[in-house]
Amino acid sequence: MVTRTHPLSQQLLPSKPNWRYQLQQAINTPEALLEALALPPELLKGAQEGHQQFRIRVPHAFVERMERGNTADPLLRQVLPLKDEAHSPDYYLSDPVGDLASSKVPGLLHKYQGRVLLIATGACAINCRYCFRREFPYSGQSAASAQFGPALDYIAQHADIHEVILSGGDPLLLRTRQLRQLSEQLAQIPHIRRLRIHTRLPIVLPDRITDDLLAWTQQLPWPLAVVVHCNHAQELDATTVNALQRWRHAGAHMLNQSVLLKGVNDSAPAQSNLAQALYQAGVLPYYLHLLDRVKGSAHFEVNSTQAQVIMEQLRLQLSGYLVPRLVREQAGAPYKLPVL
Ligand SMILES: *Cc1c(COP(=O)(O)O)cnc(C)c1O
Ligand code: SF4
Repeated sequence: MVTRTHPLSQQLLPSKPNWRYQLQQAINTPEALLEALALPPELLKGAQEGHQQFRIRVPHAFVERMERGNTADPLLRQVLPLKDEAHSPDYYLSDPVGDLASSKVPGLLHKYQGRVLLIATGACAINCRYCFRREFPYSGQSAASAQFGPALDYIAQHADIHEVILSGGDPLLLRTRQLRQLSEQLAQIPHIRRLRIHTRLPIVLPDRITDDLLAWTQQLPWPLAVVVHCNHAQELDATTVNALQRWRHAGAHMLNQSVLLKGVNDSAPAQSNLAQALYQAGVLPYYLHLLDRVKGSAHFEVNSTQAQVIMEQLRLQLSGYLVPRLVREQAGAPYKLPVL
């Protein structure tokens, strides 16, 4: 069989652009986001104001799952700045969860017994409007910026640390080669028993889940838990489900954490659909977080009474293992506090 190739056009328009190219092409202006979804121009001013505080960033792969013209789309709401961002009560803070206080060495948070959180990089593929990171100076805090040296030393010196959580930002924004180097250094520390990865990339940029990445995680010397971040069943399109399933079949325990967000997933049907769709993709619900009260996010708040009503309905409708744990993070608390 003769296969004809057109080298030049393939270079200009790759049929399957790799993840780094997709990341580079991510939407990063209010104008481009409104245009891509045919949204009304009235939204522009609020979007521009919010964009100046915390810039818009969203990969096309995620935008493609939004409904054109729908200003209430649950995926759009997570990334489009609204005028409301300028109006947060005083108790909405810059560092609501006390991360600065628990930062032991650059890029390492040791808040809870037995486990540490490594800020592998400060960057994310998507900027979620409700994220506590919008106010946190993570760029100067990433462990990669210090070549991980101080963070690795700290872990090595604390024999009671048994689990390392690669987080961020999004650790999968590092190249696989860097991740491999990091895990090789961690493997020198005998008291580490478990590795965990907190990432939203399988959801927002599923092509990041390459064969090379899976080959890396498959040969790790510890059991691996992957905690993804998906807030709504509509985020789970075929490519995303495929990425999640491939990772599970490569041996990772797949879990999900989400944030309870007004106008996004604040109903029992939305939560029930999410839990069931996740399970079909091989992922178990882990945490459902009450909103961290970070400046600019007040319009997303669902209060704990409303949250408890939703949880009661979920318990009625779903198998026990499909019900996430509702938690609130409180600065200084020794674990994420269950909201019962
Ligand atoms: C959330 C978090 C963890 C992990 O907590 P688990 O309850 O084990 O999921 C660890 N360290 C920090 C700093 C965290 O914020
Ligand atoms: S992916 Fe996670 S860390 Fe990144 S902006 Fe969204 S909520 Fe924040």
